Amino acid sequence: MFAKLTTIKNPQKLVTLCFTLVFFGASLLMWREGAMLEQAYISDQRNTLDNIASSLDKQLQHSVDILFFYQQAMEFSLDTPFITNNTHPGMKAFNRERHKPWWSVSYDQRRTIPVFGVSEAFVEQHSDLMRNNNTIDRELSAALELSYLLPLSRYASTLQFNTWYISRAGMFVSSNGHVLDKSLQTTFQRMLSRPSFARQSLANNPGRAVCWSYYQDKENPEYQVVTASIPLDYEGHWYGVIGMDFTLDVLHGYLKGIAEQHSTTDGAVYLLDSKLTALTSSMGRHGEHLVMSPVDQARLAQDMSSNTVGALRMQNRFITWAKLDSFDGVLIREHNLYQGFQGDFGHIIMLLLFVWVMFTVLLTGTWYFIRRLVINMSVMQNTLSWRANYDTMTRLFNRGAFIDQAQQLSASCRPNTQPFSVIQLDLDHFKSINDTWGHQAGDKVLKHVAAVISNTVRKQDIAGRVGGEEFCIVMPGASIADATQAAERIRERLASKPVVYSAEVLIAISASFGVSSSTEKGDYDFEHLQSVADKRLYAAKEGGRNRVCAED
Ligand code: GH3
Ligand code: MG
Ligand code: MG
Repeated sequence: MFAKLTTIKNPQKLVTLCFTLVFFGASLLMWREGAMLEQAYISDQRNTLDNIASSLDKQLQHSVDILFFYQQAMEFSLDTPFITNNTHPGMKAFNRERHKPWWSVSYDQRRTIPVFGVSEAFVEQHSDLMRNNNTIDRELSAALELSYLLPLSRYASTLQFNTWYISRAGMFVSSNGHVLDKSLQTTFQRMLSRPSFARQSLANNPGRAVCWSYYQDKENPEYQVVTASIPLDYEGHWYGVIGMDFTLDVLHGYLKGIAEQHSTTDGAVYLLDSKLTALTSSMGRHGEHLVMSPVDQARLAQDMSSNTVGALRMQNRFITWAKLDSFDGVLIREHNLYQGFQGDFGHIIMLLLFVWVMFTVLLTGTWYFIRRLVINMSVMQNTLSWRANYDTMTRLFNRGAFIDQAQQLSASCRPNTQPFSVIQLDLDHFKSINDTWGHQAGDKVLKHVAAVISNTVRKQDIAGRVGGEEFCIVMPGASIADATQAAERIRERLASKPVVYSAEVLIAISASFGVSSSTEKGDYDFEHLQSVADKRLYAAKEGGRNRVCAED
């Protein structure tokens, strides 16, 4: 396996492939880790909002429970009026005052708040109002009892700013009290116009459930409240509405408090009504900080249509939302990217990113280093293997490699009796060139001869340097005549042109050739053919040099 790897053509490509696989593997792991962290972040965000929502729910539910208590107390009072000596003066006072444009009746100035009212004529003007003389004393008694109970609720830790009762018989009680003057009529009129009253008619609220509504006073826009209201019915008759107002200031203060309590990092909490309008937030009294495009709102509405809690990513912020049980609306928490990075999960993500970047840098560095190492090794390997087979000076095959190649070639020619010829050549009086011009000149001559041989032989021929100034050429497919011709061509080229050693020195050279071939006796033994060619070479030397000898 290893041996196979070392013979791979492009080892640096393999190295790059391995490192790419490691990089992608590690990045995939990091990505998985990141995805898991994101899930954990989402559930953490949901949990935080869930806690805030249930705190607010608990608080609102507590207020609503009190509202139910008042409703039941008044129903009971309608059923069993608390007629004492103290009530009679109240009744008497009412009977005296009922025709006046505004009036008030109370039990005991210290312990109760007054029941206020408008005139008989005012009641008659409004289609929603009616004063039934048969039941008015019972209702007044119930209202007086509520006026006794309301001051007690100041000591209950509730969120509401004002608790009130508004009667269709033209009276009202408010825990915030009122001044006995003309403005009573306007106040009464305004209470009638609020959705908290209108929505409690038998037609609008057949289930007689708690109804949540938002109200902003037209004349005093600063007065904005969220109201919980329930109807007061007795024996099938709708008497009036009991309600609790929560000012945006109070809700904002409460949201701010619980948001700080439940979160280690900043993240705004908003209270939205059922139409997804932000009423208030932990950031400010109003919900104006919440910027949500119609597309975002549509996405939120879509998400809310099938769930009670959820999470959405909107551009660079993360929104978690939870519907409230006690309030007809939704609580949402907005966490932007910056806040996300400030928290624990952000820190872990950044650490993970840092580790990934460091890993990538180290991996790239290591890849570069190993790739260079592999390239160098492969260059070295190629050089070594070239040097093992070639003569560095002439760039022809060296003796050993040449003999191997020549033997293989003769063996491949033998089965088809393809002609196979050998040319052995030796430079004439080479020693005297060395002696006269020096070894460098001799080397230059050797390179020149090698170049002439390479340029003269055919593609399929092989040439090698087999001794100091001896060369051998094998020619597959060439007969003795072809080989002799080739040898003659080389001889002519060598002898016809002197070697230019320097501007002044031209060295005339010649060589003697011995040629042998399988075509003579059918002999394919390279070593034998070479020795025959060698013998003929010596004959050529003896015959006067600068000649080709192809026969014994
Ligand atoms: P002959 O015509 O009989 O072949 O005479 P010669 O001088 O060529 O023959 P000889 O065998 O006496 O000399 C060969 C010389 O080749 C001897 C040696 O110094 C020289 N020689 C061998 N290898 C190299 C080489 O790599 N470079 C150089 N410059 N000379 C070499
Ligand atoms: Mg020689
Ligand atoms: Mg020689």
